[in-house]
Amino acid sequence: MAGKLTRCTRCILPSNYPDIDFDEKGECRVCREFDAKYADIDWKAREKKLEKILNRYRGKGQKYDVMVPFSGGKDSTYTLWLMKNKYNMRCLAFNFDNGFLDPNALAFVKKAAARLGVDLITYSPDRKLLNRVYKRALEATGEFCAACVVLMPTAIFRAADTQGIRLIAAGFSDILESPPPETSYMDRVCFKDIMKSEFDMKELKWDFFFPSWKRMFGVKQINLPNYIPWNLPDIYETLNRELDFGKNMSSVRYDCLGTPHSSYLFRERTGFGKYEYLYANMTRAGVIDREEAIKIVEEREPTEPPDGFDEFMAEIGCDRSILKDIKEKSVFDFKTRNESFRKFAMSVRKLLP
Ligand SMILES: [Zn+2]
Repeated sequence: MAGKLTRCTRCILPSNYPDIDFDEKGECRVCREFDAKYADIDWKAREKKLEKILNRYRGKGQKYDVMVPFSGGKDSTYTLWLMKNKYNMRCLAFNFDNGFLDPNALAFVKKAAARLGVDLITYSPDRKLLNRVYKRALEATGEFCAACVVLMPTAIFRAADTQGIRLIAAGFSDILESPPPETSYMDRVCFKDIMKSEFDMKELKWDFFFPSWKRMFGVKQINLPNYIPWNLPDIYETLNRELDFGKNMSSVRYDCLGTPHSSYLFRERTGFGKYEYLYANMTRAGVIDREEAIKIVEEREPTEPPDGFDEFMAEIGCDRSILKDIKEKSVFDFKTRNESFRKFAMSVRKLLP
């Protein structure tokens, strides 16, 4: 299958990616956009800025200076390690369990927090409620992950706020992880529009909506990969040495057991794969070899329903009939937040010291 496609000669995006074109060197538009955005980042200046931010929060919280969302994946684990050991912050690790967390990931989270000597709290919302939300999201938009896109930041900000923590340090990398904007989108206005026919908003209020914007604007979030080079080989080396992470660049490991199913559904809906997109990002950023990325993607991209697909669907109250018209479903059929409000909210957040 994927072998017959034309791929960008620099990253690995396939010719069926939305609005793609290739220049005379065979490089794609996403690569060109990447260069325009990230070509001349001054990492020294960025790290200085990071230190300035951390200095402002260090020693200021009651018990903790920073909350680190901690899934047990490489990025959040490395973020926690850096915050604790390199930057000397008093950390609270926050683990969010959406009901599909791999038991091995959860075991690692506990072990690693203990080894690092940081406190850990886990939050698991009511599974029945979550499954209803996933079902509605999947039936309406063809994608159930969208629910967690709203749920996780709400849980993280609420936990920070109730613990009196004013800084959140996460390991989310825009360069490596942002979903394809042509196919995936989610905000709270959109989420509400999707859910309103099936739920009384009061049911969703605690888990999906901030208590008040004013309180939430008082918590600053930073993503470490925006401030320091995020070198994956170095990260794996550090984590294996310090925390027995036990994984490398090409390990298959899903923190969320829904991931293979979500990837399969995504491919059915869009014609290209989530892994294709993620590994294209990594190739473009130079953290993985192009040939290796193609090999991993071809091994991992599900063209058939993955093992346990029917059981997973049953768990969230769906079945294979969802595949029938999945190509016609889109999150863009729903209302989205007003662009100028979004920009305004982002500029207010930037004012936080
Ligand atoms: Zn490319």
